[in-house]
Amino acid sequence: MKAFFADEQRLHDPKAFLSSGAPLPNPEKPERIERLLAGALAAGCAIERPKNFGLGPIAAIHTPEYIEFMQHIYARWRRIEGASVEVIPNIHPLGRNGSYPASAVGQAGYHMADTACPISAETFGSACWSAWSAVAAAEDVLAGAPAAYALCRPPGHHAFADVAGGFCFLNNSAIAAQHLLGTTRRVAILDVDLHHGNGTQGIFYARSDVLTVSLHADPVRFYPFFWGHADERGTEAGLGYNLNLPLARKSGDQAFLEALGAARSRIEAFAPEALVVALGLDAFEGDPFGGLSVTTAGFARIAEAIAALRLPAVIVQEGGYLCDALGDNLTSFLTGYAAGGG
Ligand SMILES: [Zn+2]
Repeated sequence: MKAFFADEQRLHDPKAFLSSGAPLPNPEKPERIERLLAGALAAGCAIERPKNFGLGPIAAIHTPEYIEFMQHIYARWRRIEGASVEVIPNIHPLGRNGSYPASAVGQAGYHMADTACPISAETFGSACWSAWSAVAAAEDVLAGAPAAYALCRPPGHHAFADVAGGFCFLNNSAIAAQHLLGTTRRVAILDVDLHHGNGTQGIFYARSDVLTVSLHADPVRFYPFFWGHADERGTEAGLGYNLNLPLARKSGDQAFLEALGAARSRIEAFAPEALVVALGLDAFEGDPFGGLSVTTAGFARIAEAIAALRLPAVIVQEGGYLCDALGDNLTSFLTGYAAGGG
């Protein structure tokens, strides 16, 4: 299997992070890349650099207003006297009524869901290369590869069409799915990250050409809190095309695999021509977020079950944070996927 990654993805190096109001180091560190690269190499992947696909595939998902914001907000922010060294919002609209603030502070609150996605001079460039890694993996699959892995960092599944959040800026999984739709009619996105893929759900919520399925720790007591509940099923033409499978905290391999059975059944009923796997490895029992208890061996079983769908698959890296087994968990997933015939 090919793995796609560009060195520019290392440049984004966020510092700020608030956990229960207390400042901590941001967990979405560039060092994740070294662990994931080692994991992909151990699984036998050949690493390839994506080409620069331009803004086209990104603009197919994200609004022009948001792309302009991402391009220019850092320079505008730094012109504010006394501003923080990274863009961090401090006021958010409770709802949106159509008005759009002119100020950098107002726009930061409008386009950033939380304080976990600080923006520096390098952020947009790194996020673009991360998205292009996803596009390159999609192209590889469109060219006939049974599966391709995109080492996307920064991750993407908490990013909406015009909102960053939860370490995410551009929704790599959504961008890959939309790119696959260039030559296919139906694509399913299966999100196995510890956290609900709220941005991905939001992007496709009113659409019937992309089925979104997410397994995650129950948001009733876990980030992202306001999305990911079982009664969120889609809207308008998309009603019935979103499936959330929240799991009790600390659920292990068996509970995860049982929920995955329901996810597979729904995906098979949708009869997609291709699959995007939003691969968070933070469901691991030793991940610093500690929400679920999937084991290293469990990731291989999860991958085998997904490979049994026999769908061309773009595997997009989402979460998974620094712990000794991070690389091993990726190796386990990718080797399990190959063993499952994917
Ligand atoms: Zn996550």
